[in-house]
Amino acid sequence: MRTDQGEEWPMSEMSGRCFCGACTWRSAGPFLWSAICHCEDCRRAASSDFVSWFGVPRSGVSWVGPRTLYKSSAKVTRSFCGRCGAPLSFETDVFPDETHLYAPTLDRPELYRPTAHIFWSERVPWLELSDGLPKHPKGLQDAAAAGKDIL
Ligand SMILES: [Zn+2]
Ligand SMILES: [Zn+2]
Repeated sequence: MRTDQGEEWPMSEMSGRCFCGACTWRSAGPFLWSAICHCEDCRRAASSDFVSWFGVPRSGVSWVGPRTLYKSSAKVTRSFCGRCGAPLSFETDVFPDETHLYAPTLDRPELYRPTAHIFWSERVPWLELSDGLPKHPKGLQDAAAAGKDIL
């Protein structure tokens, strides 16, 4: 796949930052998957109607700045900027090799391409989309288990 800028996607060597810029991240890449999540947890954690995510190998992610970790459940650690509060990441023991990053933190957001909507069953009731992307009722694992192509 190529982006509008003619670059190969998935990219490697990505970087991003929080709203105030105090927290930055770098990733050696590549994108493992990308999706827009409509689940209630994501909506509440980001105070957003839905959230654009992507996954990268956790071993290739580095952080700088006053990042605050928040253990939101037994297996999940989220992080946000300790200065401006912008949400930054999601990590779960279920996928110990992955870090999930909020696509809007990318320094170059034009590089992001969502490939699906997930937890479409939990979407806000007013939302109407005609983007042509697959809309999975639950997560990508469920979609993959059902034989759907997820990336
Ligand atoms: Zn910040
Ligand atoms: Zn979610």
